[in-house]
Amino acid sequence: MDFELSEEHQMLKKMVRDFAEKEIAPIAAEIDKSGEFPWDCVRKMGELGLFGLVLPPDFGGTGPDKLGFLVALEEISAACASVAMALLCSSGASRQILSLGNEEQRTKYLPAMAKGQRLGACAITEPSGGANWPYTVQTTARLEDDSYVLNGTKCFTSNGGEAEIYMVLARTHPEKGPLGISGLVVEKGTPGFSFGKKEEKLGFRGDVSRELFFEDCRVPRANLISEGILPKATREVATFIMPGLGAIAVGLARAASEAATQYVKERPVAFGKMLANFDSVQCAIADMATMVEASRLLVLRAGALPEDTTDLPPGVMAGVFACEAALEVTSKALQAFGAYGYTTDFPIERYFRDARGLLLPSWPMEVRKLIIGRLKLGLPTLAPLGDTPPKPGGA
Ligand SMILES: Cc1cc2nc3c(=O)[nH]c(=O)nc-3n(C[C@H](O)[C@H](O)[C@H](O)COP(=O)(O)OP(=O)(O)OC[C@H]3O[C@@H](n4cnc5c(N)ncnc54)[C@H](O)[C@@H]3O)c2cc1C
Repeated sequence: MDFELSEEHQMLKKMVRDFAEKEIAPIAAEIDKSGEFPWDCVRKMGELGLFGLVLPPDFGGTGPDKLGFLVALEEISAACASVAMALLCSSGASRQILSLGNEEQRTKYLPAMAKGQRLGACAITEPSGGANWPYTVQTTARLEDDSYVLNGTKCFTSNGGEAEIYMVLARTHPEKGPLGISGLVVEKGTPGFSFGKKEEKLGFRGDVSRELFFEDCRVPRANLISEGILPKATREVATFIMPGLGAIAVGLARAASEAATQYVKERPVAFGKMLANFDSVQCAIADMATMVEASRLLVLRAGALPEDTTDLPPGVMAGVFACEAALEVTSKALQAFGAYGYTTDFPIERYFRDARGLLLPSWPMEVRKLIIGRLKLGLPTLAPLGDTPPKPGGA
């Protein structure tokens, strides 16, 4: 068992860290304050090839290299989690086109996505709810001649309004319930497709989330990516999105832990001592460092599993543990900074706000745990609540 990154991945890590420290970290506070989409960083990440890590050379990438992608994501997140989220969401869309699309769709969309020239987004959540989307999706795609006619509203779509390629989940066969939902590629600019308000979020403020509106939007039939997408989408969230959120969590936790470690060495308090001399502070530093290390191991282990794995818990566990740990680590770091940590003079409060956001996307924390628990218990897991609709009142 080898716990070291390969030479290739160590070089990638160093290259991305140098880039992130030089080009992203200095403007991270401004991205957070303005809430503007970080286009400058995204373009540079495209030039570096980071959007191509999940794609093979045939479509302009250098992978697929999930492990390398997660290594890069941690480094970007340590500088700015919003920029990392833009990378994860676009890469999530391109991976779906790669694994579920046909040759024509791959050739049409992926080369520009691999270079970050065309960004991707995944539109699943709706005002009716996101956690239980197999039951709550109301957007419909009705087949008419050679087009799907799309009607509905999506919300909280990361990269919304900025991306050009949208993976949209819609009911193509309402009579099939959770299994009647399919994935369609919808391009920005398609008549009947418009954008609504930008959400003003607590954290991840540079991760621009917008509403999407579809009003009799005609999408060519050729843009159907996957009919009955639920089992494939569940697998993709478990094996890619969850470790991806975990990698963002590791980056945030690492940044907070390192900042706190430095601060307590320099902060004089009572009796002429530095904060670092106090036992309880030393214990907090130990807790933070241990949680970062444990989180990273879970994330990288999930990244190292073969692409065709059917072993879903490792990826979801990475998404559970690393995201909860990031919230705890950033909170401990804030405590170590005292009241200064609660101000915008230091980046700790941003790390804390961003870390809180990681407990929600794709599957909120409870659903992540439900998935693991159900798999361990041998219960149905096709959808978060099993493959039958929930009974009124729970149970
Ligand atoms: C930073 C960020 C980025 C995001 N990016 C995207 C994106 O790119 N695309 C997209 O489509 N969506 C995105 N989302 C939305 C996200 O996927 C949803 O917030 C999430 O799926 C939960 O859906 P909801 O907010 O509608 O909560 P609801 O479905 O209303 O659930 C509310 C709460 O109820 C609890 N709950 C719900 N169902 C269950 C259950 N079955 N068992 C136990 N507890 C339950 C959970 O605590 C949950 O948080 C993003 C959200 C954030 C914060």
